[in-house]
Amino acid sequence: MPCWVGWFDHLDSGKTGMEVHLASVDAGRKVSLLLMEDEEDVVMILHFFLEREGFAVTVARDGREAEKMIREAAPPEIVIMDVMLPYVDGFQLIAQLRGAVGWRDVPVLMLTAKSEERDIVRGLNAGANDYLAKPFKTKELLARIRRLLK
Ligand code: CA
Repeated sequence: MPCWVGWFDHLDSGKTGMEVHLASVDAGRKVSLLLMEDEEDVVMILHFFLEREGFAVTVARDGREAEKMIREAAPPEIVIMDVMLPYVDGFQLIAQLRGAVGWRDVPVLMLTAKSEERDIVRGLNAGANDYLAKPFKTKELLARIRRLLK
C-alpha cells in the first residue's frame, strides 16, 4: 500500500506510535488525497501526476476497499471518486462518506464516465462538490482540486 505517510499526516492524538513515526518521515507538507478508481490506466496516470504535484495519494481500487477506508482510515483532505466502481458505486460511497465522522466536510470530486447529466445531478445531490467527465485533462483536474482545497 503506497503513501501511508501522507495518509497519517492528519491524525489527531491518541493513535499508535507507528503512525506517529510514519508521519514524521514526511518532512515536506503533502496534501493527502484518496483516489477511488478501478481503471488501472487512470490510477497509474493520476498517481504519478498527483504525487509529482505534491499530493500523498492513497488508492482504493473498488467500492469495498473504499468503504473500508471510510470506516477505518483517517479522512484525507480531498477525495477523487470514480462513479462506476465494482461492488459499491460512487453514489452509495458519497452517502456513506457524508455520514462518517470526520469525512463529512472532505471535498469530493466525482469522475463520471461520460458527461451524462443524470449522473452529474445525482452525484451533486448525493454530496459531491464538483465533477469532471472522462476523458479529462490532468491540468483541469488539478485546477479543480486546488479550487476545492481553498
Ligand atoms: Ca470505473
